[in-house]
Amino acid sequence: MTIRDTSQVPTGLAEAQINPYEMMLQQLDMVREYTNLPNGIWNILRKPERALEVSVPVVRDDGDIEVFTGYRVQYNSARGPCKGGIRFHPGVTGDEVKALAGWMTWKCAVVNVPYGGGKGGVCVDPARLTRNELERLTRRYTAMIYPLIGTRKDIPAPDVNTNADVMNWIVDTAGVLGGEAMPGIVTGKAIEMGGALGRREATGRGVMFVTLGILERLGIEIGNARIAVQGFGNVGSIAAQLLAEQGASIVGISDVSGAYYCPNGFDIHDVLKYVAGSPGHLLAGYDAPGVESISNEELLSLDVDVLVPAALEAQITARNAADVRARVIVEGANGPTTPEADLILGERGAVIVPDILANAGGVICSYFEWVQNIQCFPWEEAQTNQRLGSIMQRSVDEVWTLAKERNVSLRLAAFILGVERVAAAQQMRGVFP
Ligand code: NAD
Repeated sequence: MTIRDTSQVPTGLAEAQINPYEMMLQQLDMVREYTNLPNGIWNILRKPERALEVSVPVVRDDGDIEVFTGYRVQYNSARGPCKGGIRFHPGVTGDEVKALAGWMTWKCAVVNVPYGGGKGGVCVDPARLTRNELERLTRRYTAMIYPLIGTRKDIPAPDVNTNADVMNWIVDTAGVLGGEAMPGIVTGKAIEMGGALGRREATGRGVMFVTLGILERLGIEIGNARIAVQGFGNVGSIAAQLLAEQGASIVGISDVSGAYYCPNGFDIHDVLKYVAGSPGHLLAGYDAPGVESISNEELLSLDVDVLVPAALEAQITARNAADVRARVIVEGANGPTTPEADLILGERGAVIVPDILANAGGVICSYFEWVQNIQCFPWEEAQTNQRLGSIMQRSVDEVWTLAKERNVSLRLAAFILGVERVAAAQQMRGVFP
């Protein structure tokens, strides 16, 4: 089991008491003056279509029953079935899941995949559960949200602290409850269960494509780029590996257990080897020549060309934004920068590549997996990576061009693009009845 423990310390979010749903709505409201949409459409876009809260009883290995709270939110389905990951974390709240479902809606529209946005989560510290308990939790949560999910309705995927094992249990549980094979009900499954080759790496690979595209437009050579990555999970570790393979120096890395600095650039393959065998798959205790231990705050303020926050929401806030020195911030995580921090960074000319563009590689590849499941026709990995690259490059181009045309930030441009696409579908559908 390679579920990483992201739950040992409070997140920046809890520390700063930032409500992610309010944050997502603030971002949405900024789009309003740049669009010409009727009030009624805004009223629809500012609310999730459907939000389910469930109680998930789990029999612990010692026979005790513990009850966890779970959520599934379908934010908007105007462009297609809802799509979005499932998070297991003690910080999960209904508002966090609503925010993440909203971001999924705009993200799917920015990269133009035929999905609406959804998200799910369970408020649980998975590191406290045994593998059997985790399986029972996953299966019962699946049963509780089963009325909402479906290949043509709402398709979950992995997110923080969930992985292919969790997705496999979801597919199996749904298949048992529905009495038929449903490989397309979830993406991010094991390859043997119908998963797509390249899906595990897709979000990090997308971060790599976006970083290359933006650095090229800014005239920064990737071979000269110094990069710091916060979070060394699925997104952060793979982004670090692929960016290093492109010639960048990864000089800062971190996870929930600590942060490390290596001015000459980490040997990322050595770090990956270490983490594969370390307790909890954490960086704690990593050592190599030239590597020094620093604090998480120091990592965020390293003098680098690119900072990739790839952990959780609200890591760059009004409190620490002025210390962030990176010229480019590529948001591997969802919602890592608060709106206040965005303004502070923007004033000093930092380029922020927003989450709804930067980390869209995951959902693009999830879309490929779903297409393969529906057609019962698996693709070669090279085909997936090539198609992922072309969608990411087209999306970077569209967002960059819109930002230049309207003289707005990349975040605002991405939001305008995504929201206008969702609004167009919403208007064409009309309102039932
Ligand atoms: P993960 O659980 O694999 O990794 C999370 C990483 O963040 C771990 O290394 C953890 O130790 C670290 N972390 C947690 N709290 C931290 C803190 N306070 N300081 C430093 N590091 C901390 O999760 P993931 O799938 O890599 O997701 C990371 C982010 O990317 C999330 O915001 C998620 O929503 C987003 N995202 C993930 C995918 C995907 O395909 N997995 C797709 C799009 C967006």
